[in-house]
Amino acid sequence: MQVFADGAQLGHSPQFFLQRGQVRRNFEVPERAGSLLAAVQHMKLPLHAPSPIEPSAIAKVHAPDYVEFLSTAMIGWNALPDHGPEAVPNLHPTPEMLAQGAILPNSIIGAVGWYAADTACPIGPGTWEAVHGAAACAISAANLAAKGESAYALCRPPGHHAYAARAGGHCYVNNSALAAQSLLEHGAKRVATIDIDAHHGNGTQGIFWDRGDVFTASVHGDPDGYYPWYVGRAHETGAGAGEGCNLNLPLARGSGDEAWLAAIDKAIEATRRFGADALVVPLGFDASEHEPLSFLSVTANGFARAGEKLRALGLPTVLVQEGGYNVELLGDLLESFLGGWGH
Ligand SMILES: [Zn+2]
Repeated sequence: MQVFADGAQLGHSPQFFLQRGQVRRNFEVPERAGSLLAAVQHMKLPLHAPSPIEPSAIAKVHAPDYVEFLSTAMIGWNALPDHGPEAVPNLHPTPEMLAQGAILPNSIIGAVGWYAADTACPIGPGTWEAVHGAAACAISAANLAAKGESAYALCRPPGHHAYAARAGGHCYVNNSALAAQSLLEHGAKRVATIDIDAHHGNGTQGIFWDRGDVFTASVHGDPDGYYPWYVGRAHETGAGAGEGCNLNLPLARGSGDEAWLAAIDKAIEATRRFGADALVVPLGFDASEHEPLSFLSVTANGFARAGEKLRALGLPTVLVQEGGYNVELLGDLLESFLGGWGH
């Protein structure tokens, strides 16, 4: 298993996080990458810097104006009088406003709300460089997988909640979607994503919603009790050419290894039926029983078995790091998963 990581990813250190009316330290800390890197070194896996990319590479799955916003937001924010250290939205255009002609205003405050789904994705010093580096890792890993060798992109910040033109849930650029798109551009005809992060991969679903060349499956905590709340249910199956190409497998709070692995089995069966010739695994470890905001209760052995099952699909695969916020355990869980994979 070849590994891609970028040093710029450590420069993103979001502070703001709002939870149940309380401002808390953001969970998406640079130490997460340190824990994962330590595991990569412990396993003696080959570690590479990604090949450089241009912002236009990110625009393969994102709106160009959104990419431009991400790369320049700090300039506008820092020009505001009496501004805080990070760009955080304090309002969003509502469905009523949008139905009545709302437009993107010429204002950084308006733009931050326009391009963000929630307050969990502050933009601060180093955010764009980290986002850009994570995207480069996903693309480099996909380039290698396109040659038949599976690879792990150690992406931070994560990406699977990012839509084509919207950040959300610690995510800015959808690294997993970029990996899937890269595989297609390198000759894959049909790509599947099997998202095993504890949260619904709503951004990936959104990006490929009406496309028939990417099958998106997600195994996650029931959105009636867990982020992203509004989507992630079984009735969301895609539209147009993508009808039937999205599979949501929500699980009840406290679901342990057996229910989680059974859902992964369903996603694997559906991937086979779809006829995918390449695979992307948005790989979060927040389904762990030891996760700070625990919803599912998956053991380290469960992650090992998931690795074994996904490897058995026999497809060129890009593993893309998503969530998981227990810094002490993240590296161990990566080792468990890759141990099952048979790295
Ligand atoms: Zn997550």
